[in-house]
Amino acid sequence: MKKIIVTGGAGFIGSHTVVELYNAGYEPIIIDNFSNSQKSVLAGLQNITGSAVKLFEGDCCNRDLLKKIFTEEENIDGIIHFAAHKAVSESVQNPLKYYRNNLNSLMALLEIMQNYNCSNFVFSSSCTVYGQPDKLPVTEVAPKKPAESPYGNTKKICEDIIEDVIKSNAELKIISLRYFNPIGAHASSLIGELPLGVPDNLVPYITQTAAGIREKLTIFGNDYDTSDGTCVRDYIHVIDLAKAHVKAFEYLNKQEDKTFYDVFNIGTGHGNSVKEIVETFQSANNVNLNYVVGKRREGDIEKIFADVDKATTLLNWKTELSLEQALIDAWNWQKALRK
Ligand code: UDP
Repeated sequence: MKKIIVTGGAGFIGSHTVVELYNAGYEPIIIDNFSNSQKSVLAGLQNITGSAVKLFEGDCCNRDLLKKIFTEEENIDGIIHFAAHKAVSESVQNPLKYYRNNLNSLMALLEIMQNYNCSNFVFSSSCTVYGQPDKLPVTEVAPKKPAESPYGNTKKICEDIIEDVIKSNAELKIISLRYFNPIGAHASSLIGELPLGVPDNLVPYITQTAAGIREKLTIFGNDYDTSDGTCVRDYIHVIDLAKAHVKAFEYLNKQEDKTFYDVFNIGTGHGNSVKEIVETFQSANNVNLNYVVGKRREGDIEKIFADVDKATTLLNWKTELSLEQALIDAWNWQKALRK
């Protein structure tokens, strides 16, 4: 079995990708420092996959740890790099924490890979690199815009670092996946999203409100230039997103050039407004949600959704799960957490 290191493998997207790697016959090895994830995820993973997932607990900025892993584990086929700080508002308060962690981890990983002749690397990027695109759906050739937050800037700078490393003809094969908005949870309700404290993201806020943990959802603004005035995003089921990583790995393994880089949008290709998400959540789950409309949130862009033709054609990947299913799975996961 091919070994793939999954940094941040105990996190939301990481844990679902660990499952899909297993399903596809790979052996995932997690590196996680549990700074924004919980150890209970490991039990969930074991339940789903039927075997204990190998874990190295620690920080992937720690070069000694990386050396130890690469020495102990022979023939590592590649790395999928999820581990990063990701809270937009915290990044505004504490930018150095974000720059230090998110940039150092990328550099440490690319360096160790070159030292051990390991070439396949998938990087978790984000549609935030596009800012508010001029044309929708947004394609991969759309220009990158100045980031709205230090968090967003770390994604942009990481892509820039990768581009420069590739230009230097380093023997690395890299794909950056630009995620749109991942939501949902594993159908088993054994793993899902575990936000620390008050969620920033829409769907965990919705499920916590429906569960009575939050009093009400505030929709951030209804005076945008969209069909119902609320912001539009491309919400993708986390399982579909996880599967895109497996496809990206297969694609990297097919590349014959020693140096390779490409970027792919990973979304559904459809935009939904915040109001549509609220309404679909209520109808799909047959629950009522307490919500009000409030002021715009600073830094929010009006609308974005992906053109996914490139991933469909080259990675042979497409989404399989509906928005309804994602919102049902998210709610089931929230209910399972209460038990
Ligand atoms: N949103 C909202 N109320 C919330 C959280 C989010 O109205 O409590 C809106 C937010 O303004 C945006 C959309 O939901 O239009 C998605 O926000 P999220 O933070 O989940 O993802 P983003 O696209 O901003 O990264």
